[in-house]
Amino acid sequence: MERTEKNTIAVAFIGLGAIGEPMAKHLAEPPFQLAVWNRTREKADAFGKANDARVAATPADAARGSDFVITCLPTSYDVEALLEGSEGLLAGLRSGSTLVDCTSGEPGVSRAIAARLAERGIRFLDAPVSGGVSGAERGALTVMCGGAEEVFEQALPVLRSFGEKVVRCGPVGAGHALKSVNNMLLAINLWSAGEGLAVLAKAGVDIDAALGVINASSGRSNVTETLVPERVVTRAFPRTFRLALLAKDAGIAAAVAREQKVPSPLMQLASELYRVAHTELGDLADHAEVVKVIEKWAGVEIS
Ligand code: NDP
Repeated sequence: MERTEKNTIAVAFIGLGAIGEPMAKHLAEPPFQLAVWNRTREKADAFGKANDARVAATPADAARGSDFVITCLPTSYDVEALLEGSEGLLAGLRSGSTLVDCTSGEPGVSRAIAARLAERGIRFLDAPVSGGVSGAERGALTVMCGGAEEVFEQALPVLRSFGEKVVRCGPVGAGHALKSVNNMLLAINLWSAGEGLAVLAKAGVDIDAALGVINASSGRSNVTETLVPERVVTRAFPRTFRLALLAKDAGIAAAVAREQKVPSPLMQLASELYRVAHTELGDLADHAEVVKVIEKWAGVEIS
C-alpha cells in the first residue's frame, strides 16, 4: 500500500528493548510511518534494516514531525531524562503531538512530565502494557491508559496496533498505578508459589503431581499454570522480563500504597523481598529466577 500524506500517522518509537522491539514492529507498516531511536545504536540500525523504518540520530530527531512519540524504557526517570537537552525529546516534539509512555512507570513522575509538556501544547498519555513479549509479538497486549479522554481517543489507532484490550482507566498516572498493582499481584503470586512448592519439594511431594492438583484447585494462578511449569520446573528461565523490572514495579506499587495511606503490610514486604532478590540475582536475571532465592533459603530445588 502506498503511503499518502493524508492517512499517514507519523510515529516515533523510543526504546527497542525486550518488549519495545516487538511492539514497534506493528507500527512499521501503513498507515504508520515509523522512526526509531535506541540508546544502543546497533539495535536501531538492525531494526531499521529489517523493518524499513527510519533510524533517528537522536531522540529530538525521532520526535521531529511525529504525531505520536512512544517511549518504552525501564523507568519514568529514564523517560524524564530523555526529555532534556538539545538532542532530547522536548527539542523535537511539536505542539499538538502526543507523548505516549508505555514504560511501567511512576504515577507522580508522569504527572510532572504531563504538566511540563502541557506548557508547550504537547499531550501525554501513560500507557503501560501487560501480556509479555509473546503478547507484544502477537499484537495482543493489554494497554492501560491514564490521560484525558480526547487524548486517549486520538491515540487509539496507535495503541490498537499492538494492543488487543486497550482501556482508559483514569487521569494521567492511572495507567501506571494500575500496572504497578497488577505486577505486585504477580510478584506476590510468584513468591507465594515459590514458598509453597519449596515446602512440598522438601516434604517429598512430587512437583508435577503438586502442580496438577493445585491447578485443578483453588490455589491456582497464572504463575502455577504457566510460569512455574514453563520456567521453573524446566529450569529454562528465558530472560524476557527482567527481575529488576518486576522489583521496580513492586516498589512503585508499595510507594503508591503509602502515598494513599492504605495499610499494606503484604505489599511492603513483597517490595522489600524483591529488592533483596534483585540485589542477590543481579540486573539480568529473569523474574521467575526469584524462586532461586527461596530455593537457596530452603535448601531444595523445585524441579
Ligand atoms: P529492556 O531492559 O529489555 O529494554 C530497555 C530499553 O530501554 C532498551 O532499549 C534500552 O536501550 C533502553 N534504555 C535503558 N535505559 C535507558 C536510558 N537511560 N536512556 C535511554 N534508553 C534507555 O526492558 P523491557 O523492554 O523488558 O521493558 C521496557 C518497559 O516495559 C519497562 O518499564 C518494563 O517494566 C515494561 N514491561 C516489560 C515487559 C516484558 O515482558 N519485558 C512486560 C510489560 C511491561 P539499550 O538497548 O541501549 O539497552
